[in-house]
Amino acid sequence: MNVLVLNCGSSSLKFQVLATDLEAIEHNADRALARGVVERIGSEALLTLRAEGMPAQRRAMPLRDHRQALDYILRWLVAPETAVPGIASLADIHAVGHRVVHGGEKLTRSILIDDAVIEQIEDCIDLAPLHNPANLKGIAAARELFGPGVPEAAVFDTSFHSTMPPESFLYALPYQLYVRYKVRRYGFHGTSHRYVAHRYRQLTGRPPEETHIITLHLGNGCSACAIRRGESLETSMGLTPVEGLVMGTRSGDLDPSVLELLHHKEGMSFEELDSLLNKRSGLLGISGLTNDMRDLLAEESEHQDRRARLAIDLFCLRVKKYIGSYLARMNGADAVVFTGGIGENSPEIRRRICSDLDFFGIGIDPARNEAMTGGQEGEIGDGAARLRLFVIPTNEELLIARDTVRCILDVPRKW
Ligand code: ADP
Repeated sequence: MNVLVLNCGSSSLKFQVLATDLEAIEHNADRALARGVVERIGSEALLTLRAEGMPAQRRAMPLRDHRQALDYILRWLVAPETAVPGIASLADIHAVGHRVVHGGEKLTRSILIDDAVIEQIEDCIDLAPLHNPANLKGIAAARELFGPGVPEAAVFDTSFHSTMPPESFLYALPYQLYVRYKVRRYGFHGTSHRYVAHRYRQLTGRPPEETHIITLHLGNGCSACAIRRGESLETSMGLTPVEGLVMGTRSGDLDPSVLELLHHKEGMSFEELDSLLNKRSGLLGISGLTNDMRDLLAEESEHQDRRARLAIDLFCLRVKKYIGSYLARMNGADAVVFTGGIGENSPEIRRRICSDLDFFGIGIDPARNEAMTGGQEGEIGDGAARLRLFVIPTNEELLIARDTVRCILDVPRKW
């Protein structure tokens, strides 16, 4: 089955086409056929398109909205000169899987999309005012262009964390606010945490009930997850993705009184404060230079930039503190898994996070760590340490495609 996976942001659309079915899922034999991204939808859009095994094609053109962007991608996918294996016409795309950021408390599993599901996703807009509307635009565009004959599924960033117990997901606010407005921790990056936990099980042969690990998704957005018996017990992002770790442009954990102070001192509105926390803080805010970890590491080593170092130190220290608290939460763990752009590619950041954690049974093997970059998968721990350390590249698109297949065939997922 060829599944088109769509991940729509407010002005972007990422896609991937994967060939997968139950047999492929069982044997890890799914195949990526094409992928790409459209940025700056709404003005002169930039497209990067790549059929598997071919060089990437870059082009720019005005694209008004997500529908126009998807229409263009579909024409490109089926064009004979694009030469996507097995795709000659739209009829060769058998299903669509959508990444949806917020499923709230009700949408806790991947699900086939119908009008009722769309209404439920709309009900979660209050909780994810930037993300869910963009996801809904992608769904509307795909339904219009493919018609009712092509099944579509929604896979939620929040759903893996729906197993958190109340003592993990509640904030210590008056309980009525939870009852009235569902103010609570939801957590995000669930598809990524779930995928790497699944790969960890495949690599180690552990069954779900013996999967006690901490997963660290360190990319532009960052989150940690404590996984006990294969389920999310605790995660660092909260009501929104701003809570928890230090990120590219997000602050992570913060005393909420800072907002009141800034409101009084700088006259900042709630919208401005929200933008401050989400877009101007984190690595960018501390360094004053960039949100890009690779560039910060270069600034630090080539120019001894003091604030670049400070930003990296804050970043690593926050991850370290979460590892410590999750080890306490779970009374130990078997492994820590690194994923995301930084977690997969930066031996230096992994080394700094894991330094001086021998008390917790964490030790890194310098040579293995240095060698693990560029999408490789494997262990980086010191064999003598109590916990194992892994780098496992994430693949959210693959999991979305697989969930789409399972929804269509009505096969319950085992993990
Ligand atoms: P997103 O969350 O947008 O999907 P990614 O997971 O691709 O982002 O992560 C982007 C981050 O990964 C950036 O900060 C980038 O600098 C960092 N990164 C990528 N490669 C490296 C590298 N070799 N060393 C350090 N950081 C890297």
